Amino acid sequence: MNDQRIYNFNAGPAALPLAVLEEIRDSFTDFKGSGMSITEVSHRSVWFDDVINDAAERVKRLLSLDNRYHVLFLQGGASLQFCMIPMNFLSDDKSADYVNTGTWSTKAIKEAQIQGKSVAVVASSEDENFSYIPKDISFHEDAVFTHITSNNTIKGTQWQTFPDTAGVPLVADMSSDIMSRPFDVDKFGMIYAGAQKNIGPAGVCLVVIREDMLALSPDHIPTMLNYNTFASKNSMFNTPPCFAIYTLQLVMKWLEETVGGLDRMAERNAEKAKRLYDFIDESSFYTGTAATDSRSLMNVTFRLPDENLEATFVKEALDQGMGGLKGHRSVGGCRASIYNATGMDAIEALVDFMKAFEKKMG
Ligand SMILES: *Cc1c(COP(=O)(O)O)cnc(C)c1O
Repeated sequence: MNDQRIYNFNAGPAALPLAVLEEIRDSFTDFKGSGMSITEVSHRSVWFDDVINDAAERVKRLLSLDNRYHVLFLQGGASLQFCMIPMNFLSDDKSADYVNTGTWSTKAIKEAQIQGKSVAVVASSEDENFSYIPKDISFHEDAVFTHITSNNTIKGTQWQTFPDTAGVPLVADMSSDIMSRPFDVDKFGMIYAGAQKNIGPAGVCLVVIREDMLALSPDHIPTMLNYNTFASKNSMFNTPPCFAIYTLQLVMKWLEETVGGLDRMAERNAEKAKRLYDFIDESSFYTGTAATDSRSLMNVTFRLPDENLEATFVKEALDQGMGGLKGHRSVGGCRASIYNATGMDAIEALVDFMKAFEKKMG
């Protein structure tokens, strides 16, 4: 590792592969002989066309998407999707199912409700502080879609397998675990992810949307909030977030060519998370907060015996080159976000530090 860089456990924006950052640095002032930076070229130029098309092609290959799916690059983050989804897909006579597994699902539900849309919250884990993923859910067969949050960044839970909704398309917020593992995309009518957790910098939201979902959008909604606007113009109805898309393209290239695809990525992620959870389970000083069968492989949440110790832990970790271990401000505690770009070396360093801290303070 580069000496000046820390082990970065931030939840988002989060660690990016060093090789990607180095490639950006090396080509920053002269992109592919253009004599311009990628931040200076026209989005209508051949240079940027190659970037956005290659980014979309790589997303299609990595997720094994067939031709029914469109890959879009939007702005407004995952949060704008909370609003666009019901606006585009839910007419007044129809209803959608939502599963509430934490802060982000709650926000998604709220954005549908403030538009006066009909929403059924078919399951929630709020009764136990969102520490688990609900099971045995009864979905409505006549729902237009079923919305889930695949990984709950704040509470540290993750759907291990996706629910069977009897043919109703799943719409999933995959902001914090997209590209971390392979999955069967067939069940999904739409997938979206703010890039800044696992696949790029802040500023772009990846949207994968199927044709039958695109067909639901009414004409009377604002142009910039209609998926068809972007699907029909290759995400370039207006100026797209060029630099963020370029970075995302390089992360997809790293996933395909350096990591070797999502199967390999999933193996690595499973190994990393196992090392950390096994250590936490063996310790009586650290306590995991998520139910064992619902644990996230991306965000490992845990507590220490008291809040003062937690504050000292976070501070001393940073002194030793490990950043971002403070839990989300809404829940406290500690959280190690171990996305794709976080290597086993970072996990080993963290476990060593946790052992030493426990010995000193426990
Ligand atoms: C971070 C996050 C969001 C919010 O993303 P923005 O791009 O900041 O709007 C939504 N959902 C999940 C699961 C997240 O982790």
